[in-house]
Amino acid sequence: MIASERGEVGLAAGIALLRDGASAMDAVEAAIRIVESNEADHFVGVGGLPNLLGEVELDASIMDGATRRAGAVGAVKGFPHPISIARAVCEQLPQHLLLVGAGAEQFADEVGIERGETLTDEALQMWRDGLSPAGLERAGQLQGAGEVAYRQQALDRLRAMSPPDGPWGTVNVIGLDAAGNLAVGVSTSGYPWKYPGRVGDSALIGSGNYCDNSVGGAACTGRGELAIRGNTARSVLQGLAAGHDPVKACCEALAETLAMPDQFRAPLQALCLTPDGRHGGAATRAGSTYGVMTASDHDFRIVQRGQV
Ligand code: ASP
Repeated sequence: MIASERGEVGLAAGIALLRDGASAMDAVEAAIRIVESNEADHFVGVGGLPNLLGEVELDASIMDGATRRAGAVGAVKGFPHPISIARAVCEQLPQHLLLVGAGAEQFADEVGIERGETLTDEALQMWRDGLSPAGLERAGQLQGAGEVAYRQQALDRLRAMSPPDGPWGTVNVIGLDAAGNLAVGVSTSGYPWKYPGRVGDSALIGSGNYCDNSVGGAACTGRGELAIRGNTARSVLQGLAAGHDPVKACCEALAETLAMPDQFRAPLQALCLTPDGRHGGAATRAGSTYGVMTASDHDFRIVQRGQV
């Protein structure tokens, strides 16, 4: 299994399931649930940073490489585990793929997925601080002009309300099971200060998540609107299908996506895993990593991504 930054906390649980013969779908869902429960991670599940109105809205998706069936949810409030709602959409509502907002919440209640508080005091504090003059200045230093432009438009809309120093980022987990099936899961609270109802790439198959047993699985983190416009996860698979190695496939998909103009340009990352267990990643910034763990490992290890 591989996981984007901060997804490593879920790898041991996923690998334990795979060792017992569980499916990649089971292992990916279990790993992501652990990340969603981690309150120190301010971009996924409980503790995720809120939207402009101060409400946490979560997006998630899961895709099965064996069948290319998928399930996804967007802008879900009051459920700590959107990945499980996405899986339930995939398996229990096969006539649909993506549910958003109140409909997704109604379906989650119907299938018995647990409700819970997702806004934490710490996330609320970061949400406030991130739009303060000091927060804007820090964002400029750490993440550049695109991030400042993004926050400035939120400020302009709000006329009132940092990059947090702590964990920050969507989670991608990609698993390969003993039967040779791949699955990709993605979960996020999305961009902080986003417009209510905004759904990002994490819920969109082809953009932030794509999986096909015959080629590989891929997923993205970072500037979701760009990954949507670039259909970036699917584009990584096209590179793999063309014979590129995983790092090159990710780098080329990112480069193609980044060629588009975007005034809110922010980091963008991609990860992929092939059916024969090769993996790689790419990022727009130096030092970006991901975690890897196999059935014979006792712990995960950290691998550097290529840079575009
Ligand atoms: N891709 C996520 C989104 O656009 C955010 C992130 O990964 O930083 O919602």
